[in-house]
Amino acid sequence: MGDEPVNTISRRLITAMAQYLFETIDLKKAYRIGSQEVSALRGVSTAVHRGEFTAVMGPSGSGKSTFMNLLGCLDTPTSGQYLLEGVAVSALPAPHRARIRNRRIGFVFQSFNLLPRTSALENTALPLRYAGIARSKRLERAEEVLGWVGMADRLEHHPSQLSGGQQQRVAIARALVNDPVLILADEPTGALDTRTGIEVMSVFQDLNRSGMTVVVVTHDPEVANFTQRTLLFRDGLLVGDRRSVKPADARTHPPLPVVEKEAAG
Ligand code: ADP
Ligand code: MG
Repeated sequence: MGDEPVNTISRRLITAMAQYLFETIDLKKAYRIGSQEVSALRGVSTAVHRGEFTAVMGPSGSGKSTFMNLLGCLDTPTSGQYLLEGVAVSALPAPHRARIRNRRIGFVFQSFNLLPRTSALENTALPLRYAGIARSKRLERAEEVLGWVGMADRLEHHPSQLSGGQQQRVAIARALVNDPVLILADEPTGALDTRTGIEVMSVFQDLNRSGMTVVVVTHDPEVANFTQRTLLFRDGLLVGDRRSVKPADARTHPPLPVVEKEAAG
């Protein structure tokens, strides 16, 4: 340690202590609409290790999306702490938080949120544009991550030329392109039929096997079965935290009987 500056040493200590990828401490969020106040989160304390695959469940209005928005640095809590990689994110100035959001977190949404009339390759590469990376490098990286999600043969397809499951794969590739430490997915299977939803969960399981930390909001217990841990929300509180010793494997999930609504999209 000898001549090392104190802040290098303390940074190392912080890294060593950050056994969790993230931690929330008595996290609260209230929304004010006119004179009315809605308590969306009423004190949530939890911690997630690097490499964990977690489901967030709970009835509609229980605070799941609010929790995810805080984890994703899209919003700040009314009180309490959010630590990501040992850093108290909520205390940081907005530009610094935006940087963390763009560089460290990948988002996946129910409705895919892809740009229409834009290729899978360009959609995937988009976040890198904001990171100021040269076009040829962006496309090279986008092609690589599209390969990871099984879309290497659909690079030039536009969203309207892809099925719902394929569009979600592109959205997952886009979430991965910046090499994030955390993937947050809010109802990623909500717009998909059961079978396609399981395929998308299989993609998340693959990513998780390679070490990625993933948090998925779902109202579907079947979807939660593919994760290692389930956080249960009710009325803005964390009321359950269940670990699964052996989660179901989406790759070997028994194929479902073909139902009539098999249409792509
Ligand atoms: P969930 O995702 O579990 O359905 P949300 O986190 O979206 O729940 O919402 C939790 C509560 O907070 C609900 O009562 C909802 O109406 C309220 N809420 C969420 N977002 C806002 C907002 N931007 N402004 C006001 N109230 C909100
Ligand atoms: Mg929600």
